[in-house]
Amino acid sequence: MNLTEIRVKLLKNQRDKLRGFASITIDQCLVVRDLKIIEGSNGLFVAMPSRKLCDRCPACAGKNPLRARHCGDCGARLSDGRGEMDERGRPHLYADIAHPINQEARDFVQGRVLDAYRGEFERSKQVGYVAQSFDDLDYDYLEEGAELP
Ligand SMILES: [Zn+2]
Repeated sequence: MNLTEIRVKLLKNQRDKLRGFASITIDQCLVVRDLKIIEGSNGLFVAMPSRKLCDRCPACAGKNPLRARHCGDCGARLSDGRGEMDERGRPHLYADIAHPINQEARDFVQGRVLDAYRGEFERSKQVGYVAQSFDDLDYDYLEEGAELP
């Protein structure tokens, strides 16, 4: 597998740990968007695109993300700890939309994306730098407290 194009959107001056978004093109055929570059406690890592897991409100059957505390439709208080726990005992709130099939593939994708991120970061310090255009960022994630630069 070759990643024939990697685009990185830097997010600077963030109060949270999101450092950027990336999209990758696999073998000039398939684009995967909304990879996230995140500053973790052990350095940068790449999170694959994911969607929020939802369940239905017991009062009105409205659909809500598992971490929602109140129903977005009727306002009913929703119970805590909905959904399943992962192997580390944390609630499983997101599901990957696309992901590498093994650790080797994960390391490959992550390495390439982080290289592209660091390259973009260096370019961003130069005079006349123009950020790569992204017209389809994951605004859903941004709504949760992140801000665009
Ligand atoms: Zn409801």
